[in-house]
Parts: sequence; structure tokens; C-alpha cells
Amino acid sequence: MTDADRLPSGTLVFYSKFDDFDTWKRALQAQLPHLNVVHSSAVERPEDVHYALVWKPPVGFFDAMKNLRLIINLGAGVDSLLHRTDLPAGIPITRLTDPQMARMMAGYVLFAVLRHARDIPHFEQSQREATWAYRHPRSPEDVSVTVLGLGQLGAKAAFEVQRQGFKVTGWSRKPKQIDGVHSVSGMDTLDAAIGQADILVVMLPLTPQTRQILDRTRLMKMRPGAAFINVARGELVDQQALTELLTSGHIGSATLDAFTPEPLPADDPLWRLPNVLITPHLASVALPASSAEQIAVNILRVSAGESPDHVIDPAQGY
Ligand code: NDP
Repeated sequence: MTDADRLPSGTLVFYSKFDDFDTWKRALQAQLPHLNVVHSSAVERPEDVHYALVWKPPVGFFDAMKNLRLIINLGAGVDSLLHRTDLPAGIPITRLTDPQMARMMAGYVLFAVLRHARDIPHFEQSQREATWAYRHPRSPEDVSVTVLGLGQLGAKAAFEVQRQGFKVTGWSRKPKQIDGVHSVSGMDTLDAAIGQADILVVMLPLTPQTRQILDRTRLMKMRPGAAFINVARGELVDQQALTELLTSGHIGSATLDAFTPEPLPADDPLWRLPNVLITPHLASVALPASSAEQIAVNILRVSAGESPDHVIDPAQGY
């Protein structure tokens, strides 16, 4: 952006319990020095708020913001925002689709895929038993990975996994072209995509169509001993069935970053399964320095009467 583009742009309200306000304020004002960035706790006149950068704001948050022009979801997944009934009508909602976020996610997925492909859960268990449990490494070409969801994050992850030599199939609503990735689409291809995977990676958004898409019947279609990776949302999966299939060994191992509910309660049996790695929903996060530019571009577009980029479609749910 040029200096001339960096015009005063009104007031932005910030709400997140997980992200640091001062860091975001600095990043946004580095892009738009005249933007008034206020924490939601310091808003005196809600009618002066034009833009809202929010992650899971409380019910009624937007009610008094009569001049709101844009809601920016502080993250890639918009499910928590879209299921609300108190969203102001007609205000565009955008989400963050930052390339750095995609890179961070691809790094996590690659780590998890390699972990399962190289049988690391087996070696971790053997180490706890002080056992030299040699298992001959598989070549990546012999390992099939299916990625469900080929959006901003899924496409990048699928590409990075195939770059390591794995045989990658990607599944989405519409067909995609990603170098080295076999793309399939539509519900009639889902079961086959699941059934051919040695490692199944879940990267779908949570929508009315995808909620519980990995039910017991579909999880049962996984190859015996296959690995399961969920970096998207817990509600995509029948978690009880997943737990039972991991316990029986039908699903060999799992890396899980998303759960129902979150935080995962301390007495949940998943915590104690030796073949499960649990991380507390941090596979990727929005990075202020790199996300602020796309937010600034959208604020400038909206203040100029144009449509913002990365608008989500409430009817589709993503
Ligand atoms: P996008 O919205 O960019 O992409 C969604 C993908 O899922 C698209 O390929 C889409 O298909 C596909 N899809 C959606 N609905 C269906 C359906 N009914 N059937 C088949 N395919 C479908 O999402 P992102 O890649 O940006 O993010 C994916 C999810 O990752 C987020 O929604 C969020 O829940 C989660 N996430 C998790 C994080 C973590 O730290 N664990 C961090 C950030 C995000 P098509 O391309 O054909 O439209």
C-alpha cells in the first residue's frame, strides 16, 4: 500500500480471549496508522464502531454497533460465528486466510503424517517399555495419505505432503488441481477416499453438511491399523466411535488437535490411550504481522464502498 492509501478509517473493535490486543493493535496500526483500534472493554460509543475483529465474542456483542460495516473473524474457521443468531443482518463477514497460517498448518500436518508414516507412536511405546522394537521403515511412495478438505489450509498441506513423496489423494466439494495430488470430489467418492488411506487427515470446515461426517460407519471404513489426524474441528467426528476404534486398534494411532468439547475434560479416555497424541488446538494460529495487511486491505475496500476479499458464505457455512 502507498502512503496515500493509508487514510483514516474509523474505529475497529477487538475481542479475543486468546490473542494479545496490543500486538494486534500495533500490527493493524502499522498498516493503517489512523485506524482507531480499541479493545471491546474500552468502547464508549458502540455506534462509532465500524469494524470488528473478533474471536468468539459474547452473545449480544454486536447489538449496539449500529454503524458496523465489516466483521473479521480472527481465524480461519468461522463455525463459532456462523451458528449464532445475533449477527447483524447484511454485514459482510470475512475470515483470515493468511499464507503464514497455511504454512504453519502444513508444518503441523507434515509432522503428524511423518510421525505416523515412520511408526513413531510404536517407537515411543517401545521406549517406555525399554524394548528395541525394530520396524522396517516404509518408503513414502508406499504410504497413501488422504486429505479431506482442500481449502486454503488443506491444499497447502496436501501439496507439502506429496512433496515428501507420499501418495496423496485430496477430497473436496468441487474438483481441484493441485500438483502431485489426486483430486476427488463429492459425497459419492468419500468412502473410497477414506478406505484407501494409510493416513487420513481431516481439514474440513465445520458446516451443517460436514458435522459428524466421520461417523462410526465411515470411521469403520478406514483400513485396519490406519492413522487418523484431525486438525480441523472435533464436531466433524463421532469422538466416542473414534475412541473405541483406537482402543480396539482398528484405527492404529491418531494425532488430534481438535475435540468435542474443548478443552478436552481430564477424565476423557482419549487422554489415556497410548496410541494418541493430543495437542490443545494450536496446529495453526493467526499471526498479527502477516494477517494485518489483508485486514487493512479489506477495511480500505469497505470504507471505499467495495466488497471485501475472503467473504464467507453463510449459506455454505464456510
Ligand atoms: P476453506 O474454507 O478454505 O476450505 C474448506 C475446504 O473444505 C474446501 O476445499 C471445501 O471444498 C471443502 N468442503 C467444505 N464443505 C465440504 C463438503 N460438504 N464436502 C466436501 N468438501 C467440503 O478452509 P481452510 O482450509 O482455511 O480451513 C479448514 C478448517 O481448518 C477451518 O474451517 C477450521 O475449522 C480449521 N482450522 C483449524 C486450526 C487449528 O489450529 N487446528 C487453525 C485454522 C483452521 P471446495 O474447495 O470444493 O469448496
